[in-house]
Amino acid sequence: MKSRGKIIIVPLGDLDFYQINKLAANLSVAFSSGVDILQGVELPDEADNEQRGQFYSTIILTKLELMRQNETEKVLGVTEEDLYIPTTPYVYGEADPQSGCAVMSFFRLRQEFFGMAEDDKQIYSRALKEAIHLVGQLHRLVSCTNPRCVMYHSSTMRDTDTKADRFCDNCQRRLVRHGV
Ligand SMILES: [Zn+2]
Repeated sequence: MKSRGKIIIVPLGDLDFYQINKLAANLSVAFSSGVDILQGVELPDEADNEQRGQFYSTIILTKLELMRQNETEKVLGVTEEDLYIPTTPYVYGEADPQSGCAVMSFFRLRQEFFGMAEDDKQIYSRALKEAIHLVGQLHRLVSCTNPRCVMYHSSTMRDTDTKADRFCDNCQRRLVRHGV
């Protein structure tokens, strides 16, 4: 098996470190790789769109790229702030396989309970699926047609809640082919 790069988690702004630690442990299992958690940093001012009350995720990715130590590392920024790219109202996260960097937000995972009481376990389960999906994209996996697979593209929170937090056999094989 090829040697694989570490996953680097970068906490952006205030976060629940219990959940970040759990995320690190689960990502380590999903990708059989080491995971480091960097010291938290503030979100970049340049990404802050005050009018929208959101942060532009693509700008965050360019900042994360500067923190990358080598080409094999996969960097995942995590934030509680709401993210967007200009063509959409919001995004759960964004990944750029070219730069090896991704960013995800807990914001919508919390907001889309439609009046239900917040459930920490369910928020975490959604966050883990989002994290695995994004790091999967960094490993050049594409969207999967299997609605139970973690690489299935979620259009709604129901899609996210339906899929598992693991790869289907096809995606797992692709991952191995891509050196994981
Ligand atoms: Zn799949």
